[in-house]
Amino acid sequence: MTDGRLSRADRRNLQRDDAAFLARPLAMGGDPRSLGAHLRRTVRLLQDRSARSPCSDAVAHITALYEKTVPDHPQIACRKGCSFCCTQNVAVTAPEAFFVAAAIRSDKAKVAALLETDETLRGMTAEDRLGHVLCPLLEDAACSIYASRPLACHGFVSVDLQACIAAFVEHQAPNIPMPQANTNTLYATRMMLKAALRLIGLDDQTYEMTPAVALILRTNDAEKRWLAGEKIFASLPGDPPIPPQFDVAINQMAAYVAPTL
Ligand code: SF4
Repeated sequence: MTDGRLSRADRRNLQRDDAAFLARPLAMGGDPRSLGAHLRRTVRLLQDRSARSPCSDAVAHITALYEKTVPDHPQIACRKGCSFCCTQNVAVTAPEAFFVAAAIRSDKAKVAALLETDETLRGMTAEDRLGHVLCPLLEDAACSIYASRPLACHGFVSVDLQACIAAFVEHQAPNIPMPQANTNTLYATRMMLKAALRLIGLDDQTYEMTPAVALILRTNDAEKRWLAGEKIFASLPGDPPIPPQFDVAINQMAAYVAPTL
């Protein structure tokens, strides 16, 4: 590295190393070069203006990484047709909202259902909604955008069906036991997505999925404008700030990769 920048030879070596790490799951708590490779890849995908939806490509990479990394757990209670948890608010970053919007845009019935739920949710708190207003993307008790569902939906798994029924049907205080590895993988991949956004100066705030996707569907050229820096989500309340330790960790991830971009 010279003057804080990679030499041509360094860059070639890095690309070769990255190719090997990109083929593998994320090294959780292990080799930082794994994190670096996937973070660089995510940044490049977000920056690829020749892509139809750079956000979708970046999120597809991150969600595939989540699935490739998370270990199998023998006691997961979640099954197709079980959708008790799909009345929760779903926190999404803007790229995840664009990914969902791209997945449903050509399906008039899904778009109509989502816009209708957006109206229903106005003025409701997350607690009001829980157990009462279903996600508009649920069809026959199954997720109709399973491959494009947000990271939070990938990561929300339970090892106790009764605990889900207690929380989402009987309205008891939620206490859903989840495997620690799933939670850790969710945090690591979401933080990586946030670090990629920070590295290119984009908003990494999360929003409730339904209003964010509805806003995208109602806005011309929403993704292009957001990628160009326009604050198209300014009218949405946004989720509360993340805990400071996560904020620090995301900045550390970004700082680790910044000199190599
Ligand atoms: S996106 Fe799919 S998994 Fe997530 S809440 Fe909606 S229906 Fe459920």
